[in-house]
Amino acid sequence: MNNMTFEELGLIEPLQKALRKEKYETPTPIQARSIPHLLKGLDLLGSAQTGTGKTAAFALPILQRLASGHPAKKRSPRALILTPTRELANQIETSIRKYGRYMKIFHAVVYGGVSIGPQARALSRGVDILVATPGRLLDIMRQKLVYLDRLEIFTLDEADRMLDMGFINDVKKIISELPEKRQSLFFSATMSRNAVNLADRLLKEPLMVKVNPTSSTAEKVEQKVLFVDSRDKEALLFSLLEDAAINRALIFTRTKHRANKIAEKLNKNRIKAEAIHGNKSQGARMQALRNFSDGCARVLVATDVASRGIDIKDVSHVINFEMPNEPENYVHRIGRTARAGAAGIAISFCDIEDRGFLGSIERVTKLVLPVDSTHPYHSEQVARAPKTGSSKKPWGNRYNNKRGNFRPSQRRGRTARA
Ligand code: AMP
Repeated sequence: MNNMTFEELGLIEPLQKALRKEKYETPTPIQARSIPHLLKGLDLLGSAQTGTGKTAAFALPILQRLASGHPAKKRSPRALILTPTRELANQIETSIRKYGRYMKIFHAVVYGGVSIGPQARALSRGVDILVATPGRLLDIMRQKLVYLDRLEIFTLDEADRMLDMGFINDVKKIISELPEKRQSLFFSATMSRNAVNLADRLLKEPLMVKVNPTSSTAEKVEQKVLFVDSRDKEALLFSLLEDAAINRALIFTRTKHRANKIAEKLNKNRIKAEAIHGNKSQGARMQALRNFSDGCARVLVATDVASRGIDIKDVSHVINFEMPNEPENYVHRIGRTARAGAAGIAISFCDIEDRGFLGSIERVTKLVLPVDSTHPYHSEQVARAPKTGSSKKPWGNRYNNKRGNFRPSQRRGRTARA
């Protein structure tokens, strides 16, 4: 499978040409396994997360399928891609634009937080592919600005995140409006019981494709943990940022407040930084992302939800200023570096409160993160604290159930503690 070409997968020339322009040479594992199946019009259950190339795995077959058949009628898209966040929606649309650049396919993206007018106008012109977040899609369905009765392909992206964000009822309502005869695709990074139930409701005899979530990301990321007292975290950050090799750093915090504070402090110290989180307007988030990706800002400080799916080239370092309180977010976070073949470094600050989160991350991912104790703020007290730490809320037991498939490939013991 590994040495397959896009031509061998059965993709038409306009798509192959677009992929050549994107400099994609070979399909990723999820693409190699999903695309031929999807081109036959069959359902798919993909267990994969961002960074694996899953967007192209569904976007390419959708584009190919829409190349034939009748063009879309006004307000009746032929393909719908449902995704949890605005950033993801924008990214998916950008990918569709790139892959479909040599085809005559119309697409639009709808999400909340911006005015409905331009979205309604785009839909009334007729779009083949609609990318949407659930809330706004339901709004425009209620206002009869869009109908799903002519839908040919439905894709549910990041289903687990959709459930985590409380979209389950919205998603069920949308599913109930879909025509019986359709092709359905379901993607989720993890397969919790709820995700599996939702997939059962949506799919008919799907092919199951599971790609190891970390094989294409975490393995290429050099990871280390720095034990530090919470009062020294900022000083540690500044000392790290003295190193010019950290030229594009994505810093994660657990709270919006902390994200703002850090960005402010950095800017005061003439380190250009932006912050993105849920309290920022869509416009402000997009501007922040642009400033970071074009290099105007050296640092982007983000919360987990805001960062979901961010695809910025050449993030040299991910710095976990605070450990994530959900183990799966650790893998999501570090996957923001080492994108598409590049190497990357992930540095995690761990204070007493983070200790428990670290323990759970190591348990769930079966990783032992190497410790770097050579920095000036190393705290032996934190290093010796029990792994259960004092972190508040543990996560549910969904990773323990039989279907849980969080299986990073880096096994416990392969990386020794420093
Ligand atoms: P995704 O998992 O869809 O978020 O994709 C992750 C990154 O990999 C994006 O920057 C894509 O542009 C890139 N990508 C996807 N497929 C390929 C491929 N076959 N070869 C090279 N890069 C790819």
